Amino acid sequence: MSEKKKYERPVVTKLQSGIMNKFGSGPAVSVLESIDGVPIKDLHAKYGSPLFVLSENTIRSNQRNAYRIFKNRYPKVQFAWSYKTNYLNAVCSVFHQEGSWAEVVSEFEYDKERKLGIPAEQILFNGPDKSAAALTKAISEGAKIHIDHFDELYSITGICERSQLKAHVAIRVNMDVGVYPQWDRFGLNYENGEAWQALKRIAANKRLRLVGLHTHIGTYMMTAEAYRIAATKLATLAKSLRDEFDVTLDYIDVGGGFASHNTLIGQYLPAEEVVPSMEQYADAIASGLKQGSFKHDEMPMLILETGRALIDDAGFLISKVIANKRLSTGRRAIIVDAGVNLMFTSFWYKHKISPAQPISAHAEDAVIYGPLCMNIDVIRDGILLPTLNPGDSLVLHRVGAYNMTQWMQFITLRPNVVMVMSDGTVELIRKAETLESVSENEVLPEQLRAKRT
Ligand SMILES: *Cc1c(COP(=O)(O)O)cnc(C)c1O
Repeated sequence: MSEKKKYERPVVTKLQSGIMNKFGSGPAVSVLESIDGVPIKDLHAKYGSPLFVLSENTIRSNQRNAYRIFKNRYPKVQFAWSYKTNYLNAVCSVFHQEGSWAEVVSEFEYDKERKLGIPAEQILFNGPDKSAAALTKAISEGAKIHIDHFDELYSITGICERSQLKAHVAIRVNMDVGVYPQWDRFGLNYENGEAWQALKRIAANKRLRLVGLHTHIGTYMMTAEAYRIAATKLATLAKSLRDEFDVTLDYIDVGGGFASHNTLIGQYLPAEEVVPSMEQYADAIASGLKQGSFKHDEMPMLILETGRALIDDAGFLISKVIANKRLSTGRRAIIVDAGVNLMFTSFWYKHKISPAQPISAHAEDAVIYGPLCMNIDVIRDGILLPTLNPGDSLVLHRVGAYNMTQWMQFITLRPNVVMVMSDGTVELIRKAETLESVSENEVLPEQLRAKRT
């Protein structure tokens, strides 16, 4: 029995040639039928829709590539995976297998790292909220604590005095790197001398071992020059520490914040054309560190806490079209089964989107809505797409960073997450939530259990 052809409502659209239009360059939708050789329709059939898909190969090659680029410019390089960017155990484990340490910003993330069997000495413990219990654990296990404020310094000093333990500490430094608004809410300021005050106190305290300096100047930084300034300022502090207190640091940590290839909403040109390359970031940092004029045997290790730039393009969200409709203005709308509850980054990125099946030649401007009963559930406002039918599959690209940590359990359940492994097999790395798993922590008071009369 042959399937009845679906009716396609005819629409008149202006021809789009390859030139720039108001959405940037060209109607560039291309079809993506498989991820690392695995057909998307097979992934849907086995794991449902929507479905997050991560590529092990891409994570590994991004990490290796970044390491090689930095290592070509500076002799001692260490990466530390930013857990909050994506802390699924499988993802963290790939990074750890590649030699990365862990950059954590909460006790929860700290414990997650420990549970994966990674030593505490490989933890860089950042963030403004470290409880006394968390600090005590970090001190006794030998993690590297990046001090955010003076009150934290006093807590650490107190714990060390009471426990007779020695803490491995660094300070987080905030500074003017020529990018505004300045991120000055984390750490201690360079320009006003606060950072130096803290370093003096640490250097004078026998229970504290000053191991490094840290900064994280911002995120999605569009200029490599900011990193040259940051590295220069940290190298200058390191030099002063050596000259004045004879302290040699183990490391200088310039944090994360390199832009991924996602294009920001409001950005006209595609990200690939405007964001610095990894080479440019690395050149800038290596050149800044030279200002420390370190002796060869005293060169601090360079630590990078790169997050989004290493994982964004390793993540895909495959979704299905629920319906097509026309808005009151006549504008085309498409409803898909993945909403902003899963795609937090839709609020700031114009994600690349591909149909996962052959497409017709004509394209029409559309707005893509998620399935939520919430007006702001917009996956993409303004994209030229070919005709799509209910049940067709759409792939959202470069969703590996932050979506799988900032997602919300709102209205729908979180879906499966799979990883396409380097050997071509597919592994389920996070099971879809169920009513039971989501309700697990709820408690219904006894007096509310009675049936209605
Ligand atoms: C979030 C964060 C990172 C990673 O930032 P990206 O912009 O994803 O590279 C690194 N270091 C610290 C301290 C962070 O808070």
